[in-house]
This record gives sequence, C-alpha cells and structure tokens, in this order.
Amino acid sequence: MSDLLERLRGRGWRLTSQRRVVAEVLDGEHVHLTADEVHARAVERLPEISRATVYNTLGELVCLGEVLEVATDGRAKRYDPNAHHAHQHLVCSGCGAIRDVHPQGDPLAALPPAERFGFTISGAEITYRGLCPDCAPRP
Ligand SMILES: [Zn+2]
Ligand SMILES: [Zn+2]
Repeated sequence: MSDLLERLRGRGWRLTSQRRVVAEVLDGEHVHLTADEVHARAVERLPEISRATVYNTLGELVCLGEVLEVATDGRAKRYDPNAHHAHQHLVCSGCGAIRDVHPQGDPLAALPPAERFGFTISGAEITYRGLCPDCAPRP
C-alpha cells in the first residue's frame, strides 16, 4: 500500500480539496498513472479541477519525494505513489501495463567497482520488459 494521503498529512502538507483528490487518485498498489489519467480520474470526483492544478500538484509531490516519476519507452511519464519501498518495474511492451517488482539482491551492489568510474552511485532503475498474459500470443 502507498498510504500517500496519510504520509502527506503527517508532513503537514496543506490539503486543499484539489490536492486531496489528486492524492486519493494516486493512492494504492501498482498505481502508475499518466498525468492525463490522474486528471481524468480527479475530474470524476471534483469536476472543476483543472489540468494545470493536477500537473502542478504532481510536480510538488515529486519534489517532496512522495511520488516517483517513471519514464517508460516513448510513452507518457507515469506517476507512482510507492516512493518509499525500493522497487523496480515490469513493463508490458504491448499495452504498457506496469507492475512493481522486487528483484533479489541490491542493484547498486551489482555494479562492479571497476565500472563505477569514480562515481558515488545513489540509485539504479531496472526495467524488465516483456508481454503481459493478456498481450502474449496464445498457443
Ligand atoms: Zn500487455
Ligand atoms: Zn512502481
């Protein structure tokens, strides 16, 4: 669970009705929505919410570190509320479905010192690609 709304309350983030709706739309597991999808769902709850407000709120949540931006091959950026549990992504090349996955081992430790080129490494993102069961050709 992402419990995004609770985290934001805990941080004392000013929860206007518009911000609350954006946070509610993003809450949950395996949530990876584009900004337009967030807007479409937010409008169902709060018809007057503007696209600009949704975009600004998403930007703030990313700055706060409470929402991750996920870039996937040539598709629109996704917003992911699962910001506090290290995870990687499994992406369907057919329909773009995304699942949170937890490979074994530390991806940072997987890079040999000889290939660090003196960098202090702070993060790693791994994207596993393939076809989901709905997109895989049936035998
Ligand atoms: Zn698929
Ligand atoms: Zn994710």
